Amino acid sequence: MRVPVQLDGTAVLSSGKVGDVTLDLPEVAFALPAGKSSPEVPELSALRLSTEGDLPTFVHGLILERGGARHPFQFEAKIGEEYLEGGWALETPEGSGHWAFTWPWTDTQRAKISGARVDVALWLNARHLFRSSQRFVEAIMDIRNTVGPSAVLWAPRIGLPENLAILHLMGIDLLDTTEGLLRAGRGAWIFPEFDSEEDLPPQPPLCGCAACQPSSDPVKAPGEEGERIRNRAIHAHHQYLLEERRVRHMIRGRRLRELVETRIGSHPFQAEVLRWWDSLGRDYVESQTTVVGEGTHPYVYAESHRRPEVERYRRRFTETYVPPRTKSVLVLVPCSFTKPYRNSPTHRAMARALSVAPSPSLIHLVSVTSPLGVVPAELEDIYPARNYDLPVTGEWSGPERSWVTDAVRRLQRSGRYARIAVHLSDEEYGWLKEVLPPSDSCEWTVVGDSSTSPKSLMRLSQFAGSLPSGNAPSGPGLLEEARSVLTFQFSQAIADRLIDGGSRLQGLPWMHRLVSSKGEILATWKENRGTWHLTVPGAEKVLDLAGDYSVIVNPDVELRGDLFAPGARSAGKSVREGSEAILTTGDRVVGVGESLVPGPWFGRLRRGMVVAVRKHGRKA
Ligand SMILES: [Zn+2]
Repeated sequence: MRVPVQLDGTAVLSSGKVGDVTLDLPEVAFALPAGKSSPEVPELSALRLSTEGDLPTFVHGLILERGGARHPFQFEAKIGEEYLEGGWALETPEGSGHWAFTWPWTDTQRAKISGARVDVALWLNARHLFRSSQRFVEAIMDIRNTVGPSAVLWAPRIGLPENLAILHLMGIDLLDTTEGLLRAGRGAWIFPEFDSEEDLPPQPPLCGCAACQPSSDPVKAPGEEGERIRNRAIHAHHQYLLEERRVRHMIRGRRLRELVETRIGSHPFQAEVLRWWDSLGRDYVESQTTVVGEGTHPYVYAESHRRPEVERYRRRFTETYVPPRTKSVLVLVPCSFTKPYRNSPTHRAMARALSVAPSPSLIHLVSVTSPLGVVPAELEDIYPARNYDLPVTGEWSGPERSWVTDAVRRLQRSGRYARIAVHLSDEEYGWLKEVLPPSDSCEWTVVGDSSTSPKSLMRLSQFAGSLPSGNAPSGPGLLEEARSVLTFQFSQAIADRLIDGGSRLQGLPWMHRLVSSKGEILATWKENRGTWHLTVPGAEKVLDLAGDYSVIVNPDVELRGDLFAPGARSAGKSVREGSEAILTTGDRVVGVGESLVPGPWFGRLRRGMVVAVRKHGRKA
């Protein structure tokens, strides 16, 4: 069984138990032939099927090494004829929670496993399926959905230093060194980026292992066959260790995806797997992707543009975004390196130019950016709008252009703009004229190729000066911006319920409080997280509308502190890691907090904290 400690999308740092061994996951187990205690090429016979009794037996001997201690671990499974192709699953021994299986399953098999307690899931034909990128992705989603989030998923004989990152990303907890040691046995010096078939390790050494250092030690000389292979095995062992450490480091920083994207550059098959993961697995992966983030993440490759948080932002924007009702003038500007954009020198210069407008609060400032499409000023703090960086060359690919034009169409459909200024250079953004042709109501205001040149800023200022004075005072303007953010975060219905006739905002903009007509605080804005936190009265006010954000708590649980897995029955379909969670017994709010795990895990995860509770509900 595994107990999650920290999530990075579908990759999970957890504390796990396999047999009698407690270990931190994800992990790579060192394959050792029986009776041996140093990394050597395993004897192939130890990995082959042997026949015993009626059924063939698969014996896989491995050593799990933790903190210098070695735990021999043997998994023995009796298997049927359909070893590679057909699906089967066996609990062995019965009642242990240890399941060995091959995939695909019939519905009956799937239902049987799904209803069982699965502590360890040993996926015996993973290596066979890893030849087809699409099948492998289909398999792993079905398997994880079926065995549940508490199972330790172990895929023997497919882990290599080059693919530890992507396999752990997809939620495989345990891999082993068998395949790399076999490659070493065939003469390869293996690295995450390439294999070298040279007689000697690459020089000067690319690696810090003992076998790679130049030395007069005769062991390292290409002497007898056994020694040659031993050196490669020592090297392989070291490469596994290094890459596994890198993977864990990246998960801790919630950036494993970045390591995966660098690895696929050397391995086209992995790129295929990642593309299927992003397309076929879109909803599966999105449901396990956090809605709040920290730091800056580089979006460099085409694959970066398809990251789940990016896809989600674009989809949510084109499907649900509604501009603040008070905004009657749209101003499109380029994004900036500094996040949030409003803090950048370029955006400050443009804001100054616009400040001459008789009613600046009528202006809706919207940044054009890749790969998000557009980011309106009030959404600048929403994840991932303030958490990315990308190479900027002024060239826009076909998909990048579509993301922007789709988003602009959404603005035009749902907004109430009488005037538009496109403060973007003709040279770089001329393709936007397809949706924003210059006209009496749509002015392109950049002179030359720089949006921040004195001439361009002057022109923007003139545009602002020509605007009519409106009668939208700043208070309601900000309230309408809050409505847009709440709609984006929750739904239009929830936003409208929270902001009704008498609601108002209190406090400083980065910690606004939304207050009801009765003076109760309904929600508080957390600027650095880009999210509104509901209070208990706020949650009570929207409870009938907020099923998608609710977590049903077992009625016999008396909630005192945080919510733990056994106390949760289920969660609404919009609950994500980092999202608001309204804790309810069905008809009563028993607390509000932040979900720590994906919605689909509620009711299935067996141990671990699932909601960090901010406030408990009023007593019944
Ligand atoms: Zn080495």
